[in-house]
Amino acid sequence: MQMGLIRKRAVVNNFQKPSVRKLDQHYSFLLIIDFESTCWENRNYRTQEIIEFPAVLLNTSNGKIESEFHYYVQPQEQPTLSAFCKQLTGITQEQVDEGIPLSLCLAKFTYWIENLEREKNIMFVKSEYVPKGVNAATIVTWSDWDLNVCLLNEARRKQIRTPYQLNSWIDLRLAYKVFYQRKPNGLNGALEDVGIIFKGRQHSGLDDSRNTAALAWRMIRDGYKVEVTKSLRGVR
Ligand code: AMP
Ligand code: MG
Ligand code: MG
Repeated sequence: MQMGLIRKRAVVNNFQKPSVRKLDQHYSFLLIIDFESTCWENRNYRTQEIIEFPAVLLNTSNGKIESEFHYYVQPQEQPTLSAFCKQLTGITQEQVDEGIPLSLCLAKFTYWIENLEREKNIMFVKSEYVPKGVNAATIVTWSDWDLNVCLLNEARRKQIRTPYQLNSWIDLRLAYKVFYQRKPNGLNGALEDVGIIFKGRQHSGLDDSRNTAALAWRMIRDGYKVEVTKSLRGVR
């Protein structure tokens, strides 16, 4: 316990120094996503459905969030939220009852992304290859759960197509482990270790997304070179 505390303090001091190691980035924009889903105590899941769908667009040259997308989504397989889920996420039954189905949410999300692509001359890419004069972008999530488990499984069950932009992404938890050479204690622990206080409510999807963006920006300023860590099979 004592050892842990000493170690942690040393880490915080280290990362409170002003960061000067910002590198040129291949990606001009990062789109950070953090889903909340139906859940039950002791991870006693039947199926999980997305109930909150947020996304925030981070400019990697100045750390500004330039656009946000946010909808509550109506679960259809298990429409009644468990008391545990409401407590964990802060999401109310009314919010999901008034939410939109996932298929509509994905259509709105695609429309929002396509507008951003036009307005900001963005192209979502997974590799180093970007045509000249285009701002490369990719997705960021904390762990692979959001896109590789939650959305993938729900979309398969409901036979919904997902936008191609969500086919590759950065698992920031993995990137954090590799970059700082330490295992974070959740998103909040990762933020604490670099001296950032979580703003808002943990397990609120929008707040989680904004705080994940703050962490990504911090890592960039500390010299992290943004790179895709995961692509779905068959994605070119
Ligand atoms: P998070 O992004 O950490 O808020 O988690 C995303 C989703 O994972 C939540 O909406 C829950 O469905 C599930 N989840 C997270 N933490 C727990 C937990 N301690 N017990 C059960 N489910 C959880
Ligand atoms: Mg999350
Ligand atoms: Mg969350």
